[in-house]
Amino acid sequence: MGVTDEVTPLIVARADHPVSRGGLSSSAVKVLYRLHRSGYTSFLVGGAVRDLLVGERPKDFDIATNARPQEIRRLFKNSRIIGRRFRLVHVIFRSEVVEVATFRASPEPPEGPDDWDEAEAEAAEADAEPDRSPVPARVDHAVYGTPAEDAQRRDFTINGLFYNIADYSVIDYVGGLADLEARLIRTIGDPVQRFREDPVRMLRALEYSARLSFTIERRTREAIVECCDEITEASPARLSYELFEALRSGNSAAIYSAWRGAGLFDSAFPGIAGVVAEDTRMLTEVDRAVASGDRLVDSTLVGAFFLYPFYREFAELTADGRRLDNVEMLRRITTMLEPAATGLRLSNHTFHLLSQGLFTLTKMNRAPERGRQVLKLARQEYFGVALELFGLAGRAGLVSAEAAQGWSTAVARLKKPAEARAAEDEPSPPRAKRRRRPRRRRR
Ligand code: ATP
Ligand code: MG
Repeated sequence: MGVTDEVTPLIVARADHPVSRGGLSSSAVKVLYRLHRSGYTSFLVGGAVRDLLVGERPKDFDIATNARPQEIRRLFKNSRIIGRRFRLVHVIFRSEVVEVATFRASPEPPEGPDDWDEAEAEAAEADAEPDRSPVPARVDHAVYGTPAEDAQRRDFTINGLFYNIADYSVIDYVGGLADLEARLIRTIGDPVQRFREDPVRMLRALEYSARLSFTIERRTREAIVECCDEITEASPARLSYELFEALRSGNSAAIYSAWRGAGLFDSAFPGIAGVVAEDTRMLTEVDRAVASGDRLVDSTLVGAFFLYPFYREFAELTADGRRLDNVEMLRRITTMLEPAATGLRLSNHTFHLLSQGLFTLTKMNRAPERGRQVLKLARQEYFGVALELFGLAGRAGLVSAEAAQGWSTAVARLKKPAEARAAEDEPSPPRAKRRRRPRRRRR
């Protein structure tokens, strides 16, 4: 590791690059400055620097510093230490969380959500002040490192750039500026080694390529072919995290095609690949929804994959005007979803919302006839998921225009205040009635 200390970075002065403080959130600027004024090195890092350099608005702002987690924690009242192996500090503002990490030398992949343990985070927070927490020696002496080392352990050159708040320069230890210019995704260091170390990076390479319309540099591309099978070694929680990131990105159709094309999708997500044919139409609808500002919940995001298979099962069970067998339908939905739910480590809650949300679609295939039916459904927590899925299915042409129209009118009416509704035709159900029902059942 010592060798990297000698590396001289390329430093680009403020006048020669487009990153300005105005592109940062005010919270990120506050955190950068407070660290700097307290005598620490303070850099904006990772995706935010990359996005600002290509003229995009960053999703979030990550900061790296030579201050240790306990020191960072002391500087910000509104902060908490999280993570197990590498402690990070979240500085919490009203509208965003700024993540501050101490420079690291470790080549290990960053902590995935699987390593984040809320109980442990609480414990870390509790003993954060005064500084009594037993920081393992390994953490202090081997994990933390210099800025040069911190740049080297990152995944791709375009993700390894720093923006220095002290003089507003961009610091490049890894050739990231040249690759941004050439629109190339290239691993830092030997790609085969970097992908073996952390196979999730292969998914990330394709994801960035799809998102930014960048080319994957030749050796990096060849290494994906070579290391493709190792994706099965990745932790399920981290794979799941990357999938949801892709689904939320607004480019999920392109990312899915790239993953599938590289042979990664089927190995990484067999529970989905086993059910879903090669079809990006639903994901295109997800991307449209995201682009129009919808924030779809996880159950809906993953549910989108299953809309076509779901409607196929439904059509089969109701062919020739047969009445739907609810028990059979629910059984089929559960069977269809279970491998994916297990593979993706979906929580019971997410799974419940998803399966019930899909099942509810069987009740929405025709416009609602009674307001009561809508009110009854609307009381269920999974109705939100059903509505989101119904919206996607409608736009993909999977439900009739009358049904889509009927439900959208009914739901719009629901949102009106109760008095306005009562003044129209159907009254909202009287309270007493709602209470009586369970009592009767108990007898
Ligand atoms: P996004 O816009 O999707 O947030 P990002 O580049 O900020 O993109 P993050 O997942 O937020 O991606 O990670 C932040 C930074 O941490 C990356 O830019 C990269 O420098 C580093 N990083 C993330 N994942 C890895 C990994 N698997 N291996 C090495 N470095 C990583
Ligand atoms: Mg990020």
